[in-house]
Amino acid sequence: TPTPETAEVGIVRRKTRPVPVGSITIGGGYPVAVQSMINEDTLDVAGAVAGIRRLHEIGCEIVRVTVPSMAHAKAMAEIRETLERTYQPVPLVADVHHNGMKIALEVSKYVDNVRINPGLYVFEKPKADRTEYTQAEFDEIGEKIRETLEPLVISLRDQNKSMRIGVNHGSLAERMLFTYGDTPEGMVESALEFIRLCEDMNFYNLEISLKASRVPVMIAANRLMVKRMDALGMDYPLHLGVTEAGDGEYGRIKSTAGIGTLLAEGIGDTIRVSLTEAPEKEIPVCYGILQALGLRRTMVEYVACPSCGRTLFNLEEVLQKVRAATSHLTGLNIAVMGCIVNGPGEMADADYGYVGKQPGFISLYRGRDEVTKVPEDQGVSALIDLIKSDDRWVDP
Ligand code: SF4
Repeated sequence: TPTPETAEVGIVRRKTRPVPVGSITIGGGYPVAVQSMINEDTLDVAGAVAGIRRLHEIGCEIVRVTVPSMAHAKAMAEIRETLERTYQPVPLVADVHHNGMKIALEVSKYVDNVRINPGLYVFEKPKADRTEYTQAEFDEIGEKIRETLEPLVISLRDQNKSMRIGVNHGSLAERMLFTYGDTPEGMVESALEFIRLCEDMNFYNLEISLKASRVPVMIAANRLMVKRMDALGMDYPLHLGVTEAGDGEYGRIKSTAGIGTLLAEGIGDTIRVSLTEAPEKEIPVCYGILQALGLRRTMVEYVACPSCGRTLFNLEEVLQKVRAATSHLTGLNIAVMGCIVNGPGEMADADYGYVGKQPGFISLYRGRDEVTKVPEDQGVSALIDLIKSDDRWVDP
């Protein structure tokens, strides 16, 4: 009999090529990777190492650092060396915020991936009349970009490292703005221009990101990018994020709306939730999105009813107690239900159920079978005993 786990309810991910970022592979059917960015100054080597390590230890699989100058690029050598000596070689991405290739070239020796922003490669003469650029003008500018980009591409290619072509809605080059407008199309064309240049140099370790602070723009740009890539036979993995999502509840909702919508369509191979909070706060949100969509299983999945007039115990309090006792047991489904009025099927086929039976008593379920009835104050310890008797318990 099909179960929700075996039936075809899963997300079918878009097929992408595998792109290496150190020990992590993006795309190629690998799990959607979680990334974030430290906010320490890269020149503060000890601080940056601590920041990278802190993020990595809580599940950030790829860490991005900002490299605005040659001094920062050189500091990366020390950061990498210190990480390898005192911790481990964390997959690192350098964000290079300019088109000065010397910095990117230097840092490409110490990181696994270099992120460039096509919007910063501006070789066009400003057009006072804001008219479209002709193909001949694009070709001429393309040649200049190619000359600038070539040493970096060769360096990354020869080391089997990768590059992120990271387009931001807020920083499109003038040629794109005048020709395609401030639109998802402009973002997509901007990425395609750089992809073609890299392909011309036989470099295919590319990861593409199209970010915007407005969720509908970010969604539209990524959908269009996939459509264009499919038509062109390109299979580059995508990095998803909503920029400047803000903080708190709404920052998380915005990120989830943008990233989750695309992931549900099978689009996206790596994600970052950008919050105006400590970067450590971003990681649980990333894993929460991936778990909710069934793309990664890194924590206990709790099913709980919202409670109502029939609820037979303090649901909020009990859910917290159950969570405190079991949240370290990765891979389990546990349901906490105020009553069993609608039958055990309401528990969404949880492995275990904690259900209000009658005032003062709860029932424990294994799957759909009621196993025992105990006084409410013994509920959590009886649940632990039941999990132990099934050999599915590990000590925290
Ligand atoms: Fe109410 Fe029972 Fe439904 Fe919970 S499971 S919301 S207590 S009817």
